[in-house]
Parts: sequence; C-alpha cells; structure tokens
Amino acid sequence: MVDHEKIKEAVKLLLEGIGEDVNREGLKETPDRIARMYEEIYGGMDEDAKEHLSKVFSVEHNEMVVEKDIVFYSTCEHHLMPFYGKAHVAYIPNGKVVGLSKLARTVEVYARRPQIQEQMTGQIADAMMEYLAPQGVMVMVEAEHMCMTMRGIRKPGSKTVSIATRGSFEENELLQNRFFQMVRQ
Ligand code: ZN
Repeated sequence: MVDHEKIKEAVKLLLEGIGEDVNREGLKETPDRIARMYEEIYGGMDEDAKEHLSKVFSVEHNEMVVEKDIVFYSTCEHHLMPFYGKAHVAYIPNGKVVGLSKLARTVEVYARRPQIQEQMTGQIADAMMEYLAPQGVMVMVEAEHMCMTMRGIRKPGSKTVSIATRGSFEENELLQNRFFQMVRQ
C-alpha cells in the first residue's frame, strides 16, 4: 500500500523546489490528490499476476492464442513520466488456456508500477510462462514515452517497440511471423 503522508510530503517539497507557493489555492489539495492517484497508478505493486493466470481451462487443441491491442498506461522509472500504448500477447497452450481478460489484467499488474518498457515486456512473458506453463509466449509492446516527447529530443508520435519471446517462439521465425501477421491484421 502507498504511504499517503510520505507522498504528500514529497509533492510539497517538489513544488517548493520549483519555486511554487504550496499554500496558494490551486495547489492546496494537490499533494493529497496525487497521493490518492498514486494508489491507482502504482496499484500493480501490491498485485501478483499469479492471481489472474491461475484460473485455467483445459483444451484439446493447442492453437496459438493472440490477444492484441491491450491498451495500457505505465510510468517510466527514470523520469516518473507516463508511457502508454498497446501490448500484444500470444501464447501456444500446453493443454491449458486462461480467460482472455486475464491477459489484459496481467499487463495491468506490470504496467501499474515504475517501469522500463523492455523490462515490462519480459515480465509479462515470464509470468505467463511460469503460471500458465504454455509451449511458448510472445509479447510485443508499442509505446509513446512522455519523457521523450515532452522534453529532451521531443519527437511526438515516435514509438518504442519491444519484444519478448519464450519457449517455442524463441528463434522460430515462422511462429514469430504468424504472430506479427495476426497483430497487424
Ligand atoms: Zn523516461
């Protein structure tokens, strides 16, 4: 759970640091508002993907399952600025599948914490391998980073794409291409 008092104190210091008057009307409630907001946007810290990925169903045929265009919002841990976009998740079952909404939930667990996009991509893939035990997993994340578009090199619209492959997807160009085809459809 987030420590409201600590966050409120920190936000006050931040505002003072940039030369603001923390007692002026518009800013009075800001530390408290941010503390409450952090409970939501960093809520993934208290969550475990296992909870979502353990509810499985048996299947006879192990065909590739793709859940694409899962919209997510995360925070870059280097600048505490948002990065957001879409995650595409695929796996080849090994007799077990999970409810489709659980894949989106898994993405949320890892998005709602200070993150690095590449790390998040890998964590989603690893959680699926561990809890769902499929033959293979492939995850692709496409995101725009506010720390790139609002400051620094300022390239609005530029996207960072990261990929993780595990199990049967590793070094299997045929499977990877099928995944890309399904995502691009
Ligand atoms: Zn950043």
